[in-house]
Amino acid sequence: MQELPVIAAEPAAPRVKKPDWLRVKLPIGESYRQVRNLVDTHKLHTICESGNCPNMGECWGAGTATFMILGNVCTRSCGFCAVATGRPDAVDWDEPQRVAEAIMLMKVKHAVITSVDRDELKDGGSIIWANTIKAVRALNPNTTMETLIPDFRGQWENLQRIIEVAPDVVSHNLETVERLTKQVRIQAKYHRSPEVIRRLKEGGMRTKSGIMLGLGETKEETIQSMQDLRDNGCDVVTLGQYLQPTPKHLPVVRFVHPDEFAELREAGYAMGLDYVEAGPLVRSSYHAEKHIFSGRK
Ligand code: SF4
Repeated sequence: MQELPVIAAEPAAPRVKKPDWLRVKLPIGESYRQVRNLVDTHKLHTICESGNCPNMGECWGAGTATFMILGNVCTRSCGFCAVATGRPDAVDWDEPQRVAEAIMLMKVKHAVITSVDRDELKDGGSIIWANTIKAVRALNPNTTMETLIPDFRGQWENLQRIIEVAPDVVSHNLETVERLTKQVRIQAKYHRSPEVIRRLKEGGMRTKSGIMLGLGETKEETIQSMQDLRDNGCDVVTLGQYLQPTPKHLPVVRFVHPDEFAELREAGYAMGLDYVEAGPLVRSSYHAEKHIFSGRK
């Protein structure tokens, strides 16, 4: 595997103490235990665990979890991501049904589903994706759904499979600004992601994307990335603080102050975005149930 280049960082910044605004609640309580049991008994994966999400206590305590389909090993090696890279297991054709059953047992009102990238598969995993959306809908007709999908390496027939089954919200994360894309998402192409959004929009989807802050980008670059998303028909943008999952991952260059998140939120609304979720602990599925609707009238 190719070594990831290290982002030029201000020397002291990666070692600075986490600011108070990043303190999170521990996962405890009965709802948390119920979600834990269901996830284990249905042999499912969640991005909450695989991605070391700081909101796991809050979300699982509220009975929600983001399911990760197509296994828990990814063919890509993004420099920020805690999901394991390697050769994934064979496709599990029963997985869509198990996800649908877990969502039913958890009585989930709004389900968020994501996946690892399966670049080794001809269909990029899009058939399992479509089967999962259909299975969830069949067992849970009143549950709304957000799907956080890969770029399918620009093989648009695979994207089309998602459009055909029309989840309520389709998201695809830009993750970082153009200048840092090579370091942060080594196998991705910056402009491919807004193109995914554009094609989803042309297919009639409600679209969403996310950017992490604190990797060395400037405020102006973040605004430009938000504009690139908006220009391609993005409805919802999430902005959150990057946290280094292990010392092997990219360092945090800066902890972005909540006031700067608020400023970026305003900039997003000024450029016509429909909903901007911005704050240090925001992750792409945080408060996802609100993203079906417009944030500002
Ligand atoms: S493609 Fe997604 S799951 Fe895979 S390494 Fe990158 S961020 Fe992680």
